[in-house]
Amino acid sequence: MLERLEADLSTAAAVTAGITADPTPPIAAAAKSTSLRPTVRPGHDPLRALDPDHYVSVLTGQVVGRSRKICCPLHHDDNTPSFHVYEDPARGWYCFGCGRHGHSVYDLASAMWHLQTRGADFLELRRRLYELFLPGQTPPNPPRRARTPTGSRA
Ligand SMILES: [Zn+2]
Repeated sequence: MLERLEADLSTAAAVTAGITADPTPPIAAAAKSTSLRPTVRPGHDPLRALDPDHYVSVLTGQVVGRSRKICCPLHHDDNTPSFHVYEDPARGWYCFGCGRHGHSVYDLASAMWHLQTRGADFLELRRRLYELFLPGQTPPNPPRRARTPTGSRA
């Protein structure tokens, strides 16, 4: 009986030895993914840091006075100024007449110029806003068509 147990143990050892002998390629561990994409810093948009008084005045051509209310640029029968501009950039602006509101220059320009805040419209929106507020500066993460083709002269 003891002999049989020893025999079983020896065969088991042989099996495990065969398994561990199987070589795992060390190359797979070395092949780390190296991304060449530029890192885009989120939340670092100078347009979003604009003062509401400033961007509302530039976009509407109206000075935000002590009342902090101007005639709404989004609905045209605003005889009594109902467009409120908050001092806090995080609160942005709100129209008590038509109920439209936003938290940034993007929201207001989007509504005034009828451009979406996403996709191709957004790129156009941002381009115009940069021209208006940050002349000479280029937006981060430029669209693909702006890339110069890398010519291979083979
Ligand atoms: Zn309005």
